Amino acid sequence: MSRYLGPVCKLCRREGEKLFLKGRRCNTPKCSFERRGYPPGEHGQRPIRGKDAYRLQLRAKQKAKRIYGTLEKQFHNYYNKAEHQKGITGETLIILLERRLDNVVYRFGFASSRRQARQLVKHNHFLVNGELVNIPSYLVTVGDKIQVREKSLKAGVLQEAIEYAQQTGTPEWLELDADKRTGIIQGYPDATQVAANVQTQLIIELYSK
Ligand code: SF4
Repeated sequence: MSRYLGPVCKLCRREGEKLFLKGRRCNTPKCSFERRGYPPGEHGQRPIRGKDAYRLQLRAKQKAKRIYGTLEKQFHNYYNKAEHQKGITGETLIILLERRLDNVVYRFGFASSRRQARQLVKHNHFLVNGELVNIPSYLVTVGDKIQVREKSLKAGVLQEAIEYAQQTGTPEWLELDADKRTGIIQGYPDATQVAANVQTQLIIELYSK
């Protein structure tokens, strides 16, 4: 599955808010948004005219896509899947995105950003129920055990990421054994437990046109 390879700080500037895509750097004065909090490009500092419905819907969808690090086709597939499942489509969409292995690794505090989590997963640092899984979009289910691989425990990059990320705490739907670098999926989050400010209603309106 391909991914966005361009400059990530531009994504925050485009969305008009910090999306925390770069881990440690996001909380330092080096953050691009802190220094240039206007959209990128030649006309970035021009005032935005109008706030029509389509524009708001599009921005809500782009922001969610960027927070979770997915491209258009994959994001649309999550929406299609959510639409065909029982329950409220918006909530199901968020749950699907939150169940991605790279997101769960990030939420457990094994990485300082989803982007870094994705890379660590691809580099074979994690086991799911004792089996190596290196697919960032792998969907975890309740009861799954996520574990840092024994031989990865000494990897400098992982240790540094864990040290930084674990200052932020673990959400209620995940149970972490920090000493063993292991976590269990206790349930799925509801909309109020998801810190990312994703406006699912606008995304649904956009895709239902
Ligand atoms: Fe966004 Fe982080 Fe870059 Fe700041 S440093 S613009 S929060 S990705």
